[in-house]
Amino acid sequence: MIPLLSHRDDTILVVGLGKSGLSAARALTQAGATVMVWDDQADQREKAQANGLTLFDFESGDMTALDDVIWSPGVPHTHPTRHPLAEKARSANLNLRCDVDLLAASQTDATYIGITGTNGKSTTTALTAHVLKSAGKRIEVGGNLGYTALDLEPLDASGIYVLELSSYQTELTPSLACSTAVLINVTPDHLDRHGGLDGYIDAKAQLFANQENGATAIVGQDDDPSRGIANQLSIGGQHTVIGISAEVAMIEGVSVQNGILTDALSTELGTIDLRAFKTLPGKHNWQNAAAACAIARTHGVSLEEISEAFATFPGLSHRQEVVGTVNGVTFVNDSKATNANASEKALSCYDAIYWIAGGVAKAGGITDLGPLFGRIKHAFLIGESAPTFAEELARSGVATSTHQTLEDATANAGRLALLSGDHDATVLLSPACASFDMFKNFEERGDAFRNTVTETWPEVAA
Ligand code: ADP
Repeated sequence: MIPLLSHRDDTILVVGLGKSGLSAARALTQAGATVMVWDDQADQREKAQANGLTLFDFESGDMTALDDVIWSPGVPHTHPTRHPLAEKARSANLNLRCDVDLLAASQTDATYIGITGTNGKSTTTALTAHVLKSAGKRIEVGGNLGYTALDLEPLDASGIYVLELSSYQTELTPSLACSTAVLINVTPDHLDRHGGLDGYIDAKAQLFANQENGATAIVGQDDDPSRGIANQLSIGGQHTVIGISAEVAMIEGVSVQNGILTDALSTELGTIDLRAFKTLPGKHNWQNAAAACAIARTHGVSLEEISEAFATFPGLSHRQEVVGTVNGVTFVNDSKATNANASEKALSCYDAIYWIAGGVAKAGGITDLGPLFGRIKHAFLIGESAPTFAEELARSGVATSTHQTLEDATANAGRLALLSGDHDATVLLSPACASFDMFKNFEERGDAFRNTVTETWPEVAA
């Protein structure tokens, strides 16, 4: 846990009692601060009180008596509606900041790498951490992924915090000056929460605005908003801007074309063949690999070391996680794909797919996946969306069957793939849907898939 001793004499309000708010309340209490808490949900407030935390008086609590407000990134403050406590805090001249900001303001000797983007944040963060660790760097990894900021360990000047940051966090971290800030990509997301695309882009760009002169900005070049941010940073002249792309060659950057990564950051060009790495399949992962490579090069890691570390990257669970192979049939858990856009990435990576899909569909369903239907040998459909998906797939001539449980769909998909004799068949769970009609979350859904595979085929080998 991060010691927050400078807050010993402070009175602090923590708003939102999820993972990050609770960890802030814990760390501040430990430091000796007077902590008050608020959550909009009554059951969370009751739980907090039962655990000895003091509730803030929502109606008449005096904000002028506070030294700080720690705002949980998950709690909307400005859009879609203004939160009364955020308004009150602003009128009392209190800046809203989140737990990550407390970390940045207290661990001032360490180096910070901040990674954001609409997609690929967790993969890039985990891959970067793996590469830096393999190269012998002292790092702590967390933020939006794994450990929350204040549950990390303190670091001195030789240490590096590798932080995954969502747009909800980047707009609540005024003290975070990253030596390397990374924006992988931007596509429209969370627009309600940021009052539109411009607000979302501004929130992401905040990560660069906080950097000191001469700091490094690594920015994706494969979408308009990211290119716009990179151009502005270059014109501003205060950053060292490095481009990353999974599409076009970069003069001063890292790019991947047809699976070959080219590092043009030093005078001598170096390459890594990414096609060899099982845990980094597809163009989307090549974009993540380009980002991780650019970060590692900036922190003094050689291309050889990066290549070796890529080869041993274990990958993240539920994101095209290879469960194993049985007689040439590979089982892949991509339960994290809760919308068609994410499933498109996985479907693009394999031929002869035995596809397990369905659940609570997002607007547009699977219509955008039409161009990939030709890769699907059979679709095993589950959940609420099964009838509509079946109709749509059947119209394109894809064979389908509907299953009451994921376990049944998995067993049947595996059986048919093994019987088919297809060379290099893939049984792919990539639901293109949320899971909450059948599971608590995507993790539980992915675990159920993995368990069924290992129980049905104990000989499965990774
Ligand atoms: P995040 O943390 O931003 O949600 P993850 O690394 O957890 O991203 O990946 C989530 C899903 O997003 C993956 O399963 C994959 O479908 C997709 N994805 C991963 N990287 C990228 C990328 N660079 N561009 C587009 N989609 C991606």
